[in-house]
Amino acid sequence: MNYDLQALMERWDGLGVVHRYDQPTHTWIFICMHDNTLGPCTGGTRMKVYSKPGEGLLDGMRLAEGMTSKWAAIDVAAGGGKAVLAVERPLEGEERRGLLLRYGHLVQSLGGGFHTGEDLGISTDDMQVVAEGCDYVHGFDPENGSKVDPSPFTARAVFTGIRSAVAQALEQESLEGRTVLIQGVGSVGTNLGMFLKEAGAELLVSDIDVERCKRVADQLEATLVPNEEVYSTACDVYAPCAIGATLNADTIPQLRCRIVAGSANNQLAVPGDAARLLQRGIVYVPDYIINAGGALAFSLLDQGIGDREVLLEKMEVVGDSVTEILQEAASKNESPVVAAQHRVDRALARARG
Ligand code: NAD
Repeated sequence: MNYDLQALMERWDGLGVVHRYDQPTHTWIFICMHDNTLGPCTGGTRMKVYSKPGEGLLDGMRLAEGMTSKWAAIDVAAGGGKAVLAVERPLEGEERRGLLLRYGHLVQSLGGGFHTGEDLGISTDDMQVVAEGCDYVHGFDPENGSKVDPSPFTARAVFTGIRSAVAQALEQESLEGRTVLIQGVGSVGTNLGMFLKEAGAELLVSDIDVERCKRVADQLEATLVPNEEVYSTACDVYAPCAIGATLNADTIPQLRCRIVAGSANNQLAVPGDAARLLQRGIVYVPDYIINAGGALAFSLLDQGIGDREVLLEKMEVVGDSVTEILQEAASKNESPVVAAQHRVDRALARARG
C-alpha cells in the first residue's frame, strides 16, 4: 500500500482534503470532504494512533465515503465527510485540550463546509471542547444545551435492524427466544443488549476486556463466549459491535449464524466478503445502514427534537430501511450490500436531478 499523502489525496474521488500538521502535539489533522450533493459534508471526528499519517488519511477518506452513503440511505440532507486526528501517542490534559481547540478553529474556518460530532477515540467531553470555538459541532440537547451521547440511539437503531432482519430471514416478528451474540460490550453493545433482553432474546457476549464482559454478562443474564470462539459459536444473529474487518476469508467459513447485524464500521475486510456471505446463505445487514442511529439522532436534535423517548422511537426508520433493502436483495437474489448501494445511488441521482 502506498501511504504517500500527496498520492492518496490526488487519487481520491472526493471533493478534497483539508490537512494541517499540528506542531505542538505532532498530530496530523485530516478533514476529508467526500460529497455535498445532499448537504454540507458531515461526519464524526476520530482520534487515533496510526503507524503512518497516510494510514489515518486513508481511514478518513474511506469513512467519509461511507458517510455519503449513510446520509443518502437514511434520507438526511447531509453530505459525506469525516475528520481524523492522527496523534503520535495518546494525548491527555492540556495537550489534548490544546489540540481540540485548534482543531475546532480549523473547522470553524471552513465556514460550514464541514460539520462534525464524536467518533472513535473522541468523547462527548472532547466534543464540548471543540465546540468552544466552533459552531459546527452537532449533538446538543436543544433544551439544556448539554452534549448528547449517540450510543443509545445507535444501539436502538441496531436493535430495530436486527428485528427487521429476523422478520425477513427467519420469518419471526418478535425476537423472543432468538439467540444474539454481541461481540464488544462497550457503549453500543451494552445498550443493544438491554434492548434485546427486554425483547426476550437469549444473549451471548464476548469482549477482549474480560472484566467488563463479566460485568455486562451478569447485568444482562448473558452467556460469556471466549474471544477465540466468537465466529464458530452457533447463534441466530452475530452482532459485531467492536472493531472492523471481522468478516473475512478466515472467519466467514466458520460462522454458524443466520444473520450478521451490528454497529461496527467497515465489517467486511474486502468488498468480495459480501458475496462469500451470500454464498453461505447468511443475511448480512450493511453496517453503514444499521449503525446510522447516532447520526440520525444528531440530525433530529438539530431540528429541535430533544425528548429521549421520541428520539428512540424515531430510530424505527433504520429498521424500515433494513426491511426494504433485505426485501430488494431477496427478490433479486443479490447481496444486501448491492441493494443498499442501489438505494444510495437512487437518492443521489434524485438530488442531482
Ligand atoms: P466502545 O469503545 O465503547 O466499545 C467497544 C468495545 O469493544 C469495548 O468494550 C472493547 O473492549 C471491545 N473490543 C475491542 N476490540 C475487540 C475485539 N477484537 N474483540 C472483542 N471486543 C473488542 O465503542 P462503541 O461506541 O460501543 O462502538 C462500537 C462500534 O460501533 C465501533 O466499531 C464504532 O465505530 C461503531 N459505531 C459506534 C457508534 C456510536 O454511536 N457509538 C455509531 C456508529 C458506529
